[in-house]
Amino acid sequence: MPQKSAKTVETAAEKGVQRCIAADCGASYPLTERIYLCPRCGGTLEIDCHLAASSRNPAELRKTWAARAGSREAIDVSGVWRYREVLPFDEPIPFVTLFEGNTPLYQAARSASYCGLDNLRLKHQGCNPTGSFKDTGMSAAVTQAVALGSQTIICASTGNTAASLAAYAARAGVQAGILLPHGQITPAKLAQSMDYGAAVCEIDGNFDDCMRLVQELGADPSIYVANSINPFRIEGQKTVAYEMMEQCNWETPDHVVVPGGNLGNATALGKGFEELLTLGLIKRLPSLSVIQAEGAAPLAHLFAQLIPAQFAGEAPLPRTMAPVENPRTLATAIKIGAPVSWKKGLRSVMRSGGRIIAVSEQEIADAKAMIGRDGVGCEPASATTVAGIKKLVASGHIGPEESVVAVLTGHVLKDPDYVSHYHRGTLAFDSGAKAGASQQPIAGAFANVPERVAATKSAILASFERRR
Ligand SMILES: [Zn+2]
Repeated sequence: MPQKSAKTVETAAEKGVQRCIAADCGASYPLTERIYLCPRCGGTLEIDCHLAASSRNPAELRKTWAARAGSREAIDVSGVWRYREVLPFDEPIPFVTLFEGNTPLYQAARSASYCGLDNLRLKHQGCNPTGSFKDTGMSAAVTQAVALGSQTIICASTGNTAASLAAYAARAGVQAGILLPHGQITPAKLAQSMDYGAAVCEIDGNFDDCMRLVQELGADPSIYVANSINPFRIEGQKTVAYEMMEQCNWETPDHVVVPGGNLGNATALGKGFEELLTLGLIKRLPSLSVIQAEGAAPLAHLFAQLIPAQFAGEAPLPRTMAPVENPRTLATAIKIGAPVSWKKGLRSVMRSGGRIIAVSEQEIADAKAMIGRDGVGCEPASATTVAGIKKLVASGHIGPEESVVAVLTGHVLKDPDYVSHYHRGTLAFDSGAKAGASQQPIAGAFANVPERVAATKSAILASFERRR
């Protein structure tokens, strides 16, 4: 149907283009082209939304979005599609939704005090429909797959992406194909993919092997790749920045801190904040920092070698990053040695004056327990934020009186075994340092062990008293 495709290209040109981020390339492609890397140079793609075309003033946009929050229409209830003026889709949008977004921004007094801050807010993306931050991006990627007529949507995953793709593909009525490293995914996450009806392939290899296979499979025209390299994922995920700023009454926090795995989060939030600035919705960028786990911190290593000031603005980014061959961390969601979105993520951090640092397994575990004491449950990877903020306050990068938002990426029930082992004092980390002697115990510094108590009122009251 040539007429239809001509129309599609025309509207795509209005909403934006896919552009290569390589400084010496910059090639652009229509939104309707099924590509994931630049066909000319192999560089990473991003979507350049033609924001000026919306020709709305900031006050008008704020009013429109606020009004939609009170609407009952599915496209307005979604915390992604509510912001459709800044998304690269033409209306009517064949949107696929589970009413993602709309996640809480909590004040966290105990975690703030733990970090040495006057106050700290937690943006809990684990409160999305499948329990992780992946849902906002997946809503957009699966919508694009549907628009392109794909039969199977695939991803490689440490678990959260798989669960999210499985759910959104099920909603859209298309097949989800999931490639997982065998034996390295928490049972809870694997269970989700099974329940949502995905075709799960357990691969004999690590996450990076799965990524390589996904890139090979993506050459098949019936297959759509929904990994974080997919630029439409970033578009859905950037709405978190819009929602966060709306919740902050459009007052930019001094710092936003995210965990660093594949760097999709840093990329998406960075893009969102830059767009908000372009649209006049905020007056300045927050400083965006990324925290990795010590055993899976290729970007923190690279960052430590750079002089950050040198890279402020548009200075060229380093061309290569040494991957971590055998990434190790109990925070499985960020157990990634060769993050695919590292260039985009690094660029966002550099432009905003943020930092990239690593934290230890013990620091992650204790920070996680502290977040729990605020009544907020998250998975281990999420807790890198609070552990990292504590370090950034100690080093003076974050001032005690500055306003900070930490982005929590996954729900506590994503990894209940970890939580239980921490509190019972049986958590251990395989550092891989020496064969046979590499199990490092992690102390439950804030352990909360259940007590065995006699079946009498007085014994129970005594137990309460001991632990008050
Ligand atoms: Zn290129």
